[in-house]
Amino acid sequence: MAETFDISLDSLAGCSVAPQNIAVPGTFAPSTDGATFFLETFGCQMNDHDSEKVAGLLLSRGYRQVESPDAASLVLYNTCSIREKAAQKVFSRLGEYRTKQAPGQIIGVLGCVAQQEGEEIFQRTPWVSLVCGSASYRRLPELLSQLEAGNQRVTGLDNDADETFETPVTRRDNPWRAYLTIIEGCDKACAYCVVPFTRGPERSRASDSVLREVRELVDLGYSEVQLLGQTVNSYADPSARKMRFSDLLLAVADVPGIRRVRFTTSHPRDFGADIVAALEAQPKLCNHVHLPVQSGSTRILRAMTRTYTRGEYLEKIAMLRSAKRQIAITTDVIVGFPGETEDDFAETLSLLEEVRYDSLFSFKYSPRPNTPSLSMPDAISEEEKSRRLTLLQEAQREIQSQRNATLVGRTFELLVSGKSRREHQWSGHTACHRVVNFASQERALLGTYVQVRVTGAGPNSLVGEQVT
Ligand code: SAM
Ligand code: SF4
Repeated sequence: MAETFDISLDSLAGCSVAPQNIAVPGTFAPSTDGATFFLETFGCQMNDHDSEKVAGLLLSRGYRQVESPDAASLVLYNTCSIREKAAQKVFSRLGEYRTKQAPGQIIGVLGCVAQQEGEEIFQRTPWVSLVCGSASYRRLPELLSQLEAGNQRVTGLDNDADETFETPVTRRDNPWRAYLTIIEGCDKACAYCVVPFTRGPERSRASDSVLREVRELVDLGYSEVQLLGQTVNSYADPSARKMRFSDLLLAVADVPGIRRVRFTTSHPRDFGADIVAALEAQPKLCNHVHLPVQSGSTRILRAMTRTYTRGEYLEKIAMLRSAKRQIAITTDVIVGFPGETEDDFAETLSLLEEVRYDSLFSFKYSPRPNTPSLSMPDAISEEEKSRRLTLLQEAQREIQSQRNATLVGRTFELLVSGKSRREHQWSGHTACHRVVNFASQERALLGTYVQVRVTGAGPNSLVGEQVT
């Protein structure tokens, strides 16, 4: 069954972030004076990666990262507002500084809550000095300069940024898999979603710039990269090369030294046969597609403005299932969208049975500011949402148990990314994005590729033994 793996922060960061010579809080100082920062991230992989870039910026200005906010002269929260709970969590963190903020300590809010709440954050938590939304990160160096100059309230809240956020230095947290954002923002306007408001309009990064970074990542020792975007497959190369997303995938896989390419999240409307053809042609493209469906009911999909019907979504699934390689498919589902009837929910359950996803993220609908669904009638009660969520998760757990059981006896290549406290126990990911915990007598496996035969299966992970 699932086991806790212990990967030290040092090994994850690929560099030491342990606090040595901890600075005394209250002495926020320009970079030359050895200022320190603490950065906590909430939310999705795009936020994680934005934080890597923010950390890179700060390190390049001479800041040192510390593991505790108490030890930091600059405390930053990179926030998520996709659901109400995520946003509340940030305010409860900020609330702690009402009493514990050290003199001179600077508190900053980055990301989606910053973009959504804007200067209101100063009213609610007056001890905050920096508010910068994710669509304005290219202004961060300028905002940091203002803070370093002693400015007490600085904001970056433009939402019409036409550039993507690139920095010369990115401090990567994951030593085995490198994240690269290739498209920022979203133009899709789903009725429930804050992302178009918090991350701004869609803008893609030039293919040459993406490929240059991939080559740099190989030089740093990475062999696995993951291309990121809220709708990664809506990528539209702004340069003269005009690469399609599928062309970019193949070009990234062709970079010498690259062994695995992942991408997330794909929007069903823009998921075409050319992407499946690329996956079939190039084994370095991992055989896993995350294709959020949200609901199995066409009526609800229409209300959500998802721009596809159940039938059209199932056509995309059929295309993936008929590929020459077996491709793992995962999804996101929202239960309890306004007006979702028992019949609509039953259609979602039946879709699960039809597709038989390899894994699934499920959420209770959460009303969000500014979104069209906020004013829709027929809200579903919290109890009913919880009931539907439980039913959905139970159904999926059963499907996963059955699917994983069919893998016993098969051998997979893993990229080893975890070491258990128990001796000779390791963990890694397959190309199809399953976690396998396995036994090996080897001493130094982290970051290497190994062949593992699956000997047991649970709903969330597999167990195996190294065969080479
Ligand atoms: N761009 C991706 C897409 O279109 O599928 C998803 C991005 S969003 C960060 C991740 C997931 O959060 C969504 O797929 C959706 O299931 C969920 N989500 C977004 N807004 C939500 C809301 N208001 N309530 C509950 N879940 C929500
Ligand atoms: Fe949100 Fe829809 Fe855009 Fe995904 S596609 S980020 S769910 S608006």
